[in-house]
Amino acid sequence: MSKRTDIIVVGAGPAGCAVSRAYALAGKKVILLEAEPVGKSGKRFAGEWLHPQGVDALKKLGFGSIASMQGRPQGRGFVVYPGHGESPVKLDYVEGQRGLAFHHGDLVDEMRKLVSETDGVTFRQGVRVAAVDDQGVTLENGERLEAERVVGADGRSSVVRRSLRGSGNHKAMSAMTGILLEGVKAPYPEYGHVFLGKPSFLLGYEIAPSVVRICVDVPLKYKTEMKDPEWLIAATRDTLPAVWRKPCEDQIRGGHLRWQANHFLARADYGNGRRVLIGDAAGHTHPLTATGITNGLVDAIELVETKRFEAFAKSRRRACRVPELLSRALYDCFSKEDAFSQSLRRAVVSLWRNDEKERERTMGLLMGNGQSFITFAWPFLKALVGAWRGRDNTTTMGADLASIASWIRLPMAYAMAGWVRPKA
Ligand SMILES: Cc1cc2nc3c(=O)[nH]c(=O)nc-3n(C[C@H](O)[C@H](O)[C@H](O)COP(=O)(O)OP(=O)(O)OC[C@H]3O[C@@H](n4cnc5c(N)ncnc54)[C@H](O)[C@@H]3O)c2cc1C
Repeated sequence: MSKRTDIIVVGAGPAGCAVSRAYALAGKKVILLEAEPVGKSGKRFAGEWLHPQGVDALKKLGFGSIASMQGRPQGRGFVVYPGHGESPVKLDYVEGQRGLAFHHGDLVDEMRKLVSETDGVTFRQGVRVAAVDDQGVTLENGERLEAERVVGADGRSSVVRRSLRGSGNHKAMSAMTGILLEGVKAPYPEYGHVFLGKPSFLLGYEIAPSVVRICVDVPLKYKTEMKDPEWLIAATRDTLPAVWRKPCEDQIRGGHLRWQANHFLARADYGNGRRVLIGDAAGHTHPLTATGITNGLVDAIELVETKRFEAFAKSRRRACRVPELLSRALYDCFSKEDAFSQSLRRAVVSLWRNDEKERERTMGLLMGNGQSFITFAWPFLKALVGAWRGRDNTTTMGADLASIASWIRLPMAYAMAGWVRPKA
């Protein structure tokens, strides 16, 4: 026998909790389904940094207690260490706005608790959705639930997306390991630190007072080497600040690592109105620019506030295009090893160091202020010119031109994608 409700939400991560709460506050009856058994969310290594736009979204949905919890680190922006002993460059959020840092499991536990206490939400944990259609979902145990709308907030391997588009449409980018250091401070406690190095970059930020999370990005071509702890120690040693080196080595040797794969899926497809995709189910990119949770929270609010599904999808496609492009471009810039890309890396850092407007523009784009392609293309062009001028002449012009061509392909593809609509 099937059970009927207004809305079924698949997945109780940040996006699923947010959309369930938003629908319930708007008077809808919601069934929220989560596959993970009770008590398992604390184990996951995932998003731990929220941009100010995401903090506002939490507050708007009544999750404000999470943001105001005393002692929880507030993010003022990012500090980029270019390497080679050069001094760091600080990029502040515009207008003194603040982000938030936390342990991913703490955020999810607190959101789940609040949403399970919300009138109108039935939260069922430890149940996996096996199949989805326009009328509802079938659970792994064969139980059938039906609704006016199914919202897929079920993450990167979304069963709701697969029900619409089939599998295998996201692309692996890199692997990342998370290391926790306890009893140490960050050089800039209220900032996310980005350390540029080889073979890629490291991130570091406080997720609680004197608890630092280090994220080590490992390009896929090193997938054999990364299993060797000594290789990982060597890869991080020269890039990390001296005070973090020893505790980091101890954690690596002790095997206290959590690995995650990073994938890319452009945010082009939000479903068909009966089956809607939000959060990572709609699209995801490398965590370098920390946009995933913020995107999911804003999706949730806009989906509930926007009357027509098509208007919601159009608005979110438009809002996410430039931040996504920035994230792809910065990831390539910080991880590609060819000489021209390294020159581009120096040019980008120099642009930030010497031009306050460019720092503000970059942070504005990360915060979702700026949807026009030109806001990305103009500084990108400036950086390309800077990189060309700053080449170190150790490579041939042919190799550099090939690298430039690969750099130009990415924004061109995005500019074109602006006119291409996915099939309904
Ligand atoms: C290493 C790493 C670091 C990151 N750092 C950041 C960061 O600093 N800031 C940031 O904003 N983002 C970051 N991200 C991205 C961020 O974690 C994601 O964007 C965010 O968690 C997506 O939220 P979501 O609710 O859409 O999906 P998820 O968090 O993936 O939640 C999906 C939920 O659906 C459940 N589910 C899946 N399938 C089913 C099913 N069939 N039936 C029922 N339930 C199901 C899952 O158990 C899960 O609880 C990072 C990601 C990684 C991998």
